[in-house]
Amino acid sequence: MPRTVIRNGLVITAAEEVHADVLIEGERVVALAATGSSAAQAWTAETEYDATGRYVIPGGVDAHTHMELPFGGTAASDTFETGTRAAAWGGTTTIIDFAVQSVGRSLRDGLDTWHTKAEGNCSIDYGLHMIMSDVTEDSLKEMDILVEEGVTSFKLFMAYPGVFYSDDGRILRAMQRGGDNGGLIMMHAENGIAIDVLVEQALAAGRTDPRYHGEVRRELLEAEATHRAIQLSRVAGGAPLYIVHVSAEQAVAEIAAARRLGLNVFGETCPQYLFLSTDNLAEPDFEGAKYVCSTPLRPREHQAALWRGLRTDDLSVVSTDHCPFCFNGQKELGRGDFSKIPNGLPGVENRMDLLHQAVLDGHLSRRRWIELACATPARMFGLYPRKGTIAPGADADIVIFDPHERYTMSAATHHMNVDYSAYEGKQITGRARTVLSRGAAVIHDGEYVGRPGHGTYLPRGTSQYLI
Ligand SMILES: [Zn+2]
Repeated sequence: MPRTVIRNGLVITAAEEVHADVLIEGERVVALAATGSSAAQAWTAETEYDATGRYVIPGGVDAHTHMELPFGGTAASDTFETGTRAAAWGGTTTIIDFAVQSVGRSLRDGLDTWHTKAEGNCSIDYGLHMIMSDVTEDSLKEMDILVEEGVTSFKLFMAYPGVFYSDDGRILRAMQRGGDNGGLIMMHAENGIAIDVLVEQALAAGRTDPRYHGEVRRELLEAEATHRAIQLSRVAGGAPLYIVHVSAEQAVAEIAAARRLGLNVFGETCPQYLFLSTDNLAEPDFEGAKYVCSTPLRPREHQAALWRGLRTDDLSVVSTDHCPFCFNGQKELGRGDFSKIPNGLPGVENRMDLLHQAVLDGHLSRRRWIELACATPARMFGLYPRKGTIAPGADADIVIFDPHERYTMSAATHHMNVDYSAYEGKQITGRARTVLSRGAAVIHDGEYVGRPGHGTYLPRGTSQYLI
């Protein structure tokens, strides 16, 4: 088997920081040894990387992406091919995307469709969650089979009536099933029924600009839905619950309260809520449309609560909810009616660097950066320790990260298939230089050296946080 050695770097995992060399055989890590030790010096390999002055970190695990997602009469602009390539550029080596069940169809139909989209196209490994749009006796039975097969998480929506929305009864049934079969229920927690009333009233009053998207999707309606989801999971016997893309301080408080009760409730947030705000949504000339996503960006004051939640583990994962739509031709569908702006932001390429910037800004420790971006998402979704760490036996998904390189985020230089950057002009320090996926270089020295189809599908175990 071909051997690779990464020498002289600072290896950072969620657990520790050590000056060590890393030995890879084929697709896996086989050993770490102290840099300069006789053991490390004795290693020979076909390929050697010198990581002097750099970090050697596990590849990022982005547990929330939407490549090619059909939405609002259009579709997310990154394919699995372009999106996974961009992810690799940003130091992410695993994504978990969402297969979608259509109303009236089986889970299997949706899963097959997404396998077809992804297979042979990904530069990095990928798993799939299942969006349940139609909770029926049949689809509940299918959940058991999917959990056995490695699709172990199911997303439900309390928002988007008429599209993805499930009422409380359907949510309860799915949670009961998840409590039995170990499937993790992922919840989009916003009260979509109430939001739709406010949307209608805003439009009738002539309030059509992008910023009203943020105003009608009230913080209280996120907090209320989060509270309701938690209580439903308790009624379902303590079924595990993962709240996606938390943005409001009041929702963080609901999750914190549930966790203090010892419930299996977990929270996720995304870089856009940590670095952007309603100020962006209010940008003139329809530019605010670039920042339309749901849950929406919140006033800047909420950011402190999110950072605090990340430190206290009331928020345990940072994913991107990557769901890009071009400004020209896609976001523009909502000119004159904010409710027609496709919901979603690009970010799969930016997450690792933004969180490293948060380390420099004093929000997180280096190990917590790796925990939030690599280890916990891998554990949460049943991929650890194959993914999310650097240890003997783990897949050699490794990033050599230069913590000193400075650059400016921009649509002119990013690799996502979208015509704007949500972080245009932002100065960043730190960047992935070399990215390995199962031992093979995908990015090296400023070049893409991977190939579509290298990435394989990852059947997953159940969440490793459940007791
Ligand atoms: Zn999403």
